Parts: sequence; structure tokens; C-alpha cells
Amino acid sequence: MKNVAVLGATGSIGGNTLDVIARHPQRFRASVLTAHRQVTALVALCAVHRPDLAVIADPALEPELTRQLTAAGVRCDVASGHAALTAAAASPLCDTVVAAIVGAAGLESTLAAARAGKHLLLANKESIVMAGPLLLEAVAAGGGALIPVDSEHNALFQCLPPACLPGGQPHLGKGGVRRLILTASGGPFRGFLRPQLAQITPEQACKHPNWVMGRKISVDSATLMNKGLEVIEAHHLFNAPAEAIEVLVHPQSLVHSLVEYVDGSVLAQLGNPDMRTAIAHALAWPERVEAGVAPLDLAACAPLAFEPPDLDTFRCLALAFQALRAGGDAPALLNAANEVAVAAFLAGTLPFLAIADVVESVLAELPAQDVVNIETLCERDRDAREAARRILRNAC
Ligand code: NAD
Ligand code: MG
Repeated sequence: MKNVAVLGATGSIGGNTLDVIARHPQRFRASVLTAHRQVTALVALCAVHRPDLAVIADPALEPELTRQLTAAGVRCDVASGHAALTAAAASPLCDTVVAAIVGAAGLESTLAAARAGKHLLLANKESIVMAGPLLLEAVAAGGGALIPVDSEHNALFQCLPPACLPGGQPHLGKGGVRRLILTASGGPFRGFLRPQLAQITPEQACKHPNWVMGRKISVDSATLMNKGLEVIEAHHLFNAPAEAIEVLVHPQSLVHSLVEYVDGSVLAQLGNPDMRTAIAHALAWPERVEAGVAPLDLAACAPLAFEPPDLDTFRCLALAFQALRAGGDAPALLNAANEVAVAAFLAGTLPFLAIADVVESVLAELPAQDVVNIETLCERDRDAREAARRILRNAC
């Protein structure tokens, strides 16, 4: 029996994870559930999954969580605040941690799970973008494993030779691997040119053609920053230089990514666009379990389409490659600036096209520095957020 902590249980990945867990009560148990502020949603999940511990990140909401759990007849331990969240990720209550908090807010708990030697199922891509080498060192020091849940990286994981698993040896060149090809749906605005993007609203940006996801990652998918973050994620996970990572737009989202070998072979992982496949793979690895995903009917989906990304229109992807090439903490600065800009866009105070402008200005203002440790990295994250907020204020 695997005891699973689902960090970010009330989110899109959290919900899909709990769906897979509920299909296999003999194998998996949700032992820890956490949420940011959604008390009622968390209590509803606790009533179904009966965890040992429920954590609400906002401490002001702990009494309300306790009250609602009691009213619902659910008996479990209750905790609140960021320290409790971090402690839960490292606690003996779980052997597996699904890191499904959105944004840099997930970094501390992800690191804690890695240090504690948990099986770390990583959806929270922002934490590896920010702290790639430090996170991989923590996984190695803790003696656990990191299994990617992001569908592209989970696909690469499935197509790479065993010597190339995350945190292992330098990968590319080993096992005959030449290139990693990340597919991208292109988002809701594929084929649009810049003038058509000027008036985009948050509702339009969050309406993804193939996936139902949280609002932040939906906007990232619309700007292609999501693919940029994933390029950096792939660089760290599989030790691939920027030149060996290609992005290929594939609007149907059936081919989740590909690995090219030196003999010309290309291995791909395919499946319907349903995150439960990647989650089930990561939960059961190295075994396979049923995930509730409909079988792929390729004949009904033919022909499959592929095209190169438009980096002039979707500048966030180009900026992510720029940050990756700059190295050091540039990806962390990119991520921080993007989080601030996306929040402003979602709040209706920043135009869609200006998200890339804010990120570009922050990268220009703060040249990359070497990553020393988590503390200095978090300081740089704060500096980048302050710079982004100042740029936003000056733009208004
Ligand atoms: P979401 O917004 O649906 O859910 C986020 C979860 O994190 C919620 O449970 C929320 O309560 C919690 N949370 C938010 N802010 C928090 C904070 N400050 N402290 C503690 N908890 C907090 O997001 P999602 O779409 O499920 O995405 C989660 C992560 O997985 C993101 O990093 C995203 O990039 C990644 N991811 C998502 C998908 C997808 O299909 N949704 C696919 C690949 C990767
Ligand atoms: Mg992805």
C-alpha cells in the first residue's frame, strides 16, 4: 500500500490524482490532503478519502476547517500554515508525495519531500525551473526518486533508456539519445498574429482546446510560457542542453513528446489528452495500472498535424530559451516575473501581450547570477517579483 500526500489536492492535478487513487484502494491511499484556502472543497475530499491529516495553507482558516470536518463527521488531524505544509511533505504519514501546488509556492514542500527521500511525483514545474540542480541534489541526498507528472516529461521518461532517468548520469549522448522533442498544443491562440492578441480576456486565455487545467497554467499555455518552463524542466530532469531540446506544435495533443536516437529512431508516447495517464504511470511506476482513460482511437483522430512554433508572436517561449542559455538563476527570475505578470493579467490589469514585456524587462534589469543556495535563490525570486511589480506600476 502506498500512502500518498496530495499537495494541492483541490486543484486540477490534485483532483485527477485522487480519481486514480480511488480506482485502486488496494494499492494507494490518500494519507495527506492539502489546499490553499478552499476549505469546503478540502473537507469534501476528506469525507471521501479519509486522510490522516488535512492541511490548509492559510492559518486563518484552520478553525473553519476543524469546524467543517467535525460537522461532516470526518476525524483526521488538522494543521495549517506553510511550515505545516512543508512538515507534511516530509512526514512518515506518506511515502509518496504528489507535488501539485501551483507556482513557486510549491518549492519548499517539494524540496522537503525530496530531502526526506519520498517518491516525488512532480507536477509543480515551477519548483524545478527555479531550483533545478538544488532539487535534484535533494532527491539524490534523500535517496528517493523523482517521477515527472507533467505529461511531456512523463512521456520522455517513458521513451528514454533507463540510464537516463531523472537525477542520474549526464543523459544526452548516453544510451544513444540525440534530441528531446517536446510537443505543444499551441494553446487557444495557435495561428493568431500579434494584432489579434491585443484584446484577449482572461476567460478566452483560460479556455484551452484540449486540457482542463488551473488558471495560471492555462494562461501559460496560451502565451507558450508553459512550453518554455517545460524546456527548462526537461533540461534539468534529463540533463539536456538547450540545443538538444526542440519544441514542436501538435494541436491534437495525442503525441505527448518524443525522443530521437542517433540511429534515426524516434520513440514517442501517445495517449488521449488526460492527465490521469501520466499520474497513474507515476503512481504505479514501474508497474502499470488502469487510469480510467478512454482508449486512443488513432484512425478517428487522423491525420496527426505538426508545425513549428511561432516564436515572434509567442515571445515567452523565446524568452525561456534565452533564460536557459543565460544559465544561473535566470530561469528563476523568468518564473517569478511571469507569475507576477500572469496574476496581473488574470486580475484584468495587464494586457495579454504585455506579459512577455514584463518578463523581458525583468530579465534585462537583473543579469543572471550563480545559484548559491535556496536562501539566495528565494531572495532573487523576491527581487524579480519586486522589479516586475514596479514595471507594472510604471506601465499604468
Ligand atoms: P490549480 O490551480 O488547479 O491547483 C493548485 C492547487 O495548489 C490547489 O489545490 C491550491 O489550493 C493549491 N495552492 C495554490 N496556491 C497555494 C499556496 N500559496 N500555498 C499552498 N497551496 C496552494 O493548478 P493545477 O492546474 O492543478 O496545476 C498544479 C501544478 O501542476 C502547476 O505547477 C502546473 O504547472 C502543473 N501541471 C498542471 C497540469 C494540468 O493539467 N493541470 C499539467 C501539467 C503540470
Ligand atoms: Mg505539460
